[in-house]
Amino acid sequence: MSILSNRINNLAESQTIKMAKLGRELAAKGINVINLSFGEPDFHTPQFIKDAAVEAMDKNFTYYTPVSGYPDLRKAIAAKLKRENNLDYNFDQIVVSTGAKQALANALMVMINPGDEVIIPTPYWVSYSEMVKLAEGESVFINATAENNFKITPEELEAAITPKTKMFMFSSPCNPTGSVYSREELAALVKVFEKHPEIFILSDEIYEHINFIGGHVSIAEFASVKDRTIVVNGFSKAYAMTGWRIGYLAAPKEIADAADKLQGQVTSGSCSITQKAGLAALEGGLKEVHEMRDAFLKRRGIVHELLSQIEGLKVNLPDGAFYFFPDVSSFFGKSVDGQTMNNAEDISLYLLNTAHVSTVTGEAFGNEKCIRISYAASEDELREACKRIADALGKLK
Ligand code: PMP
Ligand code: GLU
Repeated sequence: MSILSNRINNLAESQTIKMAKLGRELAAKGINVINLSFGEPDFHTPQFIKDAAVEAMDKNFTYYTPVSGYPDLRKAIAAKLKRENNLDYNFDQIVVSTGAKQALANALMVMINPGDEVIIPTPYWVSYSEMVKLAEGESVFINATAENNFKITPEELEAAITPKTKMFMFSSPCNPTGSVYSREELAALVKVFEKHPEIFILSDEIYEHINFIGGHVSIAEFASVKDRTIVVNGFSKAYAMTGWRIGYLAAPKEIADAADKLQGQVTSGSCSITQKAGLAALEGGLKEVHEMRDAFLKRRGIVHELLSQIEGLKVNLPDGAFYFFPDVSSFFGKSVDGQTMNNAEDISLYLLNTAHVSTVTGEAFGNEKCIRISYAASEDELREACKRIADALGKLK
């Protein structure tokens, strides 16, 4: 009998974090591991943001913060949502959290009752289904295929809706596929939601600035669903601020108030210094953000060319984020040195242990045929990693 709760015993470990950990362990043994498993920009946080943090400490912003965040930051987020996304929110509809991860967890914990269904298109970001589990909800998956650029159709959405559906949860640009829903595609999904006014939408927009096909479109821009949409966003990806731990949600006031109440009992307000850095980020313009996006675009081209040359790998060209999600199923059943590849996890571990390139199995994202390769690494590392992957896969017979 375990001393631990069923809640934690039933929870899967985050595979992104597990693979990053395994990669670090190998690196600590002196092995040259190229880490393409963790979804984190390799750029440094822009200097003006770091300067604002130093200034915040010097000015003694070192005390507990209001649970939902400093009012000036929440006002700056509301202004950002207006300026960049054409969304109207009052600052009291914004709750700042310790990362977008906490904002997503808050949203689910305050909205989901036991047995409520949450529709999640697959592939989806690893933590979605586990957070739904923690909230005692049921995930209902819609399998989006590579043929449809890993996006779902309105018909598939309609077919997944039941009287128990409480929420639809997705990311665009998507982690792990990089798929981006166009305005027209979102409009078609919104038409389905118009027939089901009881369903809420949790829209994870953390990759909004890493979009290679045009401006970001938020589903909250559609008036018919705005009042039942929770927008989640953050600073980790756009501003290379993963370690600072700051994100937020924007929602109808009743939901924002509920998130404030929950957070007040669990973690309180997020870090004071980080919040001041976040404020500087929002007020500092998008120059660095766009430079990083352009670097990602260049890397995408390099990696796409190299991966496309690998026989047996099926590669999509992602429209956003910084991941490739190639289908590796043609290698299933193949072996090297008595080691047989039975699934995507075997391939991912084989690449880690023999090619010393860390990736993440697609199973963690709800797709058994693929692996996720992050290209948030230098061009040299990416070229070397692709070479190693090609060599390792080429040995499988
Ligand atoms: N959503 C998605 C889709 C992500 O990839 C991440 C990356 N960790 C997050 C949310 C959480 O980001 P944060 O670092 O702000 O918690
Ligand atoms: N979002 C990143 C990823 O998908 C960071 C790791 C995590 O928080 O799971 O790899």
